[in-house]
Amino acid sequence: MHALLSGTLVSKAIPVPVPDQMLDVSVETLASDAVHVLQERMWHEQRDFVRARSAFYRRKLGPSLPVTLGLDALQDLPFTDKDELRASQEACQPFGDYVACDLDRIVRVHRTSGTTGRPLQLANSARDVRLIARVGGRAQFAAGLRPGDRVVHCLNYCLWTGGVTDHMTLEETGACVVPFGTGNSTVLLQTIVELGVTAISCTPSYPALLEGLLRDAGKQPRSLGLRLGLFGGEAGLDNPAFRNALQEVWGFAVRNANYGMSEVLSNFASQCEHTDDLHFHGADALFVEIIDPEGSRQPIREGISGELVCTHLAKECQPLIRFRTRDVVTVTATDACACGRTGWRFRVTGRTDDMFNVRGVNVFPAAVQQAVFSRPDLASGQFRIVLQGTGPWDRIPIRAEAAASLPAAAHEPAARELAEAVRRYTGASAEIALVPAGSLPRTAGKTALIERTAP
Ligand SMILES: [Zn+2]
Repeated sequence: MHALLSGTLVSKAIPVPVPDQMLDVSVETLASDAVHVLQERMWHEQRDFVRARSAFYRRKLGPSLPVTLGLDALQDLPFTDKDELRASQEACQPFGDYVACDLDRIVRVHRTSGTTGRPLQLANSARDVRLIARVGGRAQFAAGLRPGDRVVHCLNYCLWTGGVTDHMTLEETGACVVPFGTGNSTVLLQTIVELGVTAISCTPSYPALLEGLLRDAGKQPRSLGLRLGLFGGEAGLDNPAFRNALQEVWGFAVRNANYGMSEVLSNFASQCEHTDDLHFHGADALFVEIIDPEGSRQPIREGISGELVCTHLAKECQPLIRFRTRDVVTVTATDACACGRTGWRFRVTGRTDDMFNVRGVNVFPAAVQQAVFSRPDLASGQFRIVLQGTGPWDRIPIRAEAAASLPAAAHEPAARELAEAVRRYTGASAEIALVPAGSLPRTAGKTALIERTAP
């Protein structure tokens, strides 16, 4: 437990204290005013540390980071974005001059995938590694993992945080973790049976591959006896039809157990058994702001949407101030959840990089996806937004696959109904062309929801 979390700071507003349902009941049930006091104290310490030790922030902020700057005034500081971190690492290899501790304090290094530019080298001290494991452990615990479980971890251990760092978050719950990694699926199936594994941690698309192997061998997925599926945040889990099918076929509970970003904290939000929204678990690690498209801070209250901006409260190695995550979230609740946790809940509703504007409304492909997923009777779930030229657009042009069961004669009224759903979810009009089920190309990785074409 953090030294600051003692005595009077512990929340008075716990609905039903259920310590065996939480890893850190003293943090996870803090009332919002206590969170504020805790974060302000932690920030003062962190601010002094960054001022003294980060060459990057001394150069970037200089006198605008005065000794007295509190969390409220943080909104007057400029943002930090990923390109600046890349430039810092380019100029000062390998870890950048935003490293704030001595280099010999680094105990673990990861790398980002670099799909949108030069990969970042992520360095962590022993203290950082402990904090990351603890907050991530809360997420996995909230998702249902417990001491006594045996969980097989099937993400890539080669450089990515999804491997060994996620492994440590699983271990933090007290569960027994089997470090499997990717590939060797036949050996994996044997291992699950031999070791009496009860839970699997993997990508949402992986069970389909395992299912195929099992059926080829004349076995049912349920015969493995897994009770819990812990998944990362690919969009598939937001599709109720996909999620229900996964639960039905495997007989396990499906949870998004892992939301975060490796530059910030690899996992700081997850679903509990009572909600499909994500609980924020990092009250003693991150100060979070939600900003509107103009960059102004918005209060964290139900219904607010905006880009997530994160400031570390206790990071030793590569501390960040006002880091733009580019993820757009919508706050869904700030009251206590039925699980007893008081942290605010949210959904990830888009990325600022793929936002586009329709008649003054900012539209996110993820919101269109929610709309399409909401009508499995009309559409298969596969679609593309086809943007011609550079805009402006007066409606969202969408090519969507019809549901397999929908007769061709019903396509026209179905397209109108689907457009109505899109309008409800995005606030913008849509023009929908329905195409036969199965006709849009599938990709192995994440499918780009937007196709851009020349005018
Ligand atoms: Zn909950």
